[in-house]
Amino acid sequence: MARSVRKTMIVTSPTRISGLVLTFLGLAFIIAVLSNAWASGVSFSDFSAFNEFLWANRFNIGLGIQFELVYFIIAGAVTILLGVSLLARRTERVEEVTVITEDVTATLECTVCGYRWKEIFSETQLDSMGFPRNRKISRRKCPACGRFTRPKIVKVRAPRTF
Ligand SMILES: [Zn+2]
Repeated sequence: MARSVRKTMIVTSPTRISGLVLTFLGLAFIIAVLSNAWASGVSFSDFSAFNEFLWANRFNIGLGIQFELVYFIIAGAVTILLGVSLLARRTERVEEVTVITEDVTATLECTVCGYRWKEIFSETQLDSMGFPRNRKISRRKCPACGRFTRPKIVKVRAPRTF
């Protein structure tokens, strides 16, 4: 009957890429501030001195807008957290199910005159008609005698085999 083919695809979602970008951006912020502090001769082991440096120094981002360096550290940390949380998301697995229905040639027989002819059905169609329990199909006109009849399926043949 109908066969289904399962294919699992691993999708690199755009969230992974933006996660990486955000993480590196945040790291760049922090590294910029740290190298700035290091260049100014601030000892990292002395937390209060470092803290003071962060609050005392401003960074001009242009147009007369200045931020204390501490905000860069906060912004950097938030950006890293955001990036890491995006990266932590599970890689999306998309399962693609393709259902292949095969066409079969059914030989039909008119119940009035006994004339036989062939028609193509899909296997799902045959299934829904209740074949093979039910061998009679829906009413149609017999091409020989012209009567409306419910022909009988006398033979089913798959035109191609896999
Ligand atoms: Zn007929």
